[in-house]
Amino acid sequence: MGTASLSILAPSSKPTTPVSSEEVPLNPSTSLLSSSSNSTSPSTHPHKITSTTILFISLLLITCIALSASIAFAFLFFSSHTHTPTPSIETVARPLVKLRKPVVLLISSDGFRFGYQFKTATPNIDRLIANGTEAERGLIPVFPTLTFPNHYAIVTGLYPAYHGIINNYFLDPVTGEGFNMQSHEPHWWLGEPLWETVVNNGLKAATYFWPGSEVKKGPWTCPYNFCQHYNGSVPFEERVDTVLGYFDLPSDEIPAFMTLYFEDPDHQGHKVGPDDPEITDAVANIDRMIGKLIQGLEKRGVFEDVTIIMVGDHGMVGTCDKKLIFLEDLVQWIDIPKDWIQSYSPLLAIRPPVGVLPSDVVSKMMEGLSSGKVQNGKNLIVYLKEDLPARLHYSVSERIPPIIGLVQEGFKVEQKGSKRKECGGAHGYDNAFFSMRTIFIGHGPQFARGRKVPSFENVQIYNMVTSVLEIQGASNNGTASFAKSLLLPSL
Ligand SMILES: [Zn+2]
Repeated sequence: MGTASLSILAPSSKPTTPVSSEEVPLNPSTSLLSSSSNSTSPSTHPHKITSTTILFISLLLITCIALSASIAFAFLFFSSHTHTPTPSIETVARPLVKLRKPVVLLISSDGFRFGYQFKTATPNIDRLIANGTEAERGLIPVFPTLTFPNHYAIVTGLYPAYHGIINNYFLDPVTGEGFNMQSHEPHWWLGEPLWETVVNNGLKAATYFWPGSEVKKGPWTCPYNFCQHYNGSVPFEERVDTVLGYFDLPSDEIPAFMTLYFEDPDHQGHKVGPDDPEITDAVANIDRMIGKLIQGLEKRGVFEDVTIIMVGDHGMVGTCDKKLIFLEDLVQWIDIPKDWIQSYSPLLAIRPPVGVLPSDVVSKMMEGLSSGKVQNGKNLIVYLKEDLPARLHYSVSERIPPIIGLVQEGFKVEQKGSKRKECGGAHGYDNAFFSMRTIFIGHGPQFARGRKVPSFENVQIYNMVTSVLEIQGASNNGTASFAKSLLLPSL
């Protein structure tokens, strides 16, 4: 029985990167959206005609070209002063006006699927986009496209296999200890998150919620005033007000790096799926929060000085009860008891007990799934983790169970059939699915106004932040030169 081809997944397989803690020379992130235009100028052949006439015509031509170029330049120059927003012709970072040093405010709107911004009027998000730099077709999350693995990838620049948070819940195979979203023991959280890097560089950081921010790591002690302990019931307005309050501190006290987190529209997305009016309302509310933030920063005269990076962690896709795969349907080929399963859906993760060969489990499962006798079986492909597509970067950690199943978009895996209604929304799927994409907007002195860039993976954001703050970061899976290419150079 052969493994079914992975036609459901990536539009094209992309070059794999040697994943090490060093920078990779080839940027892995942009290849999902490669639209490289190789425009080489046609070669010209020199002619051996020597006459004064030709010389005269050439001179005339050069004059004409020079004249039209200067007219074009003048047009660009003057038009840039008459329209807003303008396609950026900036070449260097804008100087700070009020702040003494750069400040980065990293905002996450959980589950903000790319495209939600078109569902309703979002004047404030639009303002950031128009006057900043946007990933035109969205930000690519890391695999698995889940909240904790992605938030921690954003702040460490590492894929989950390297930063250790390989799922929202998992078991340590050595100690048997369980990780969950309330686990704050440092040993789970590998890598160096931005708040730690910032403090390492002698600057202050402040976190208004972010997965991992409450974990004491190195010099980061989660200080009382600058590290909010997670409490989902704090109104969004209060979060924005607290962050704004940091800008009222004496200038030496203002944290150089801040995070701000909103649970929406993920919360609604799970409940009703991505296409319900509830999502529209949640998106409009997030936009209001961004408006409140902009207003507060403007009032303090620092809006143009602050670097705002607004992202989501992943997208969302609708799920419904017809798109189910039941493991008990495989019993004719192999019995998979519940206690082998570490997570069902959308990431199926199986750790069979000692003595059961993972490769044997994979081949028996695939035999059943591809037999045509298992409902929706062809929408699940099971791998030994080392055989997963390399672009997922999901194998090196021992925390990752040996067997991983990938399901087609919108499908779910369950132990056995039930009468439960399953319609809602989910994420966690292959990060090649467009529905899993989220937003990236950069606004501030080093982000060109009105610039659109191709999609890239969120592991690039770490280097972007250290670059804006001009601090030394830890090694990571991003590419420093790529992050710099999204920024305007400082004078
Ligand atoms: Zn999330």
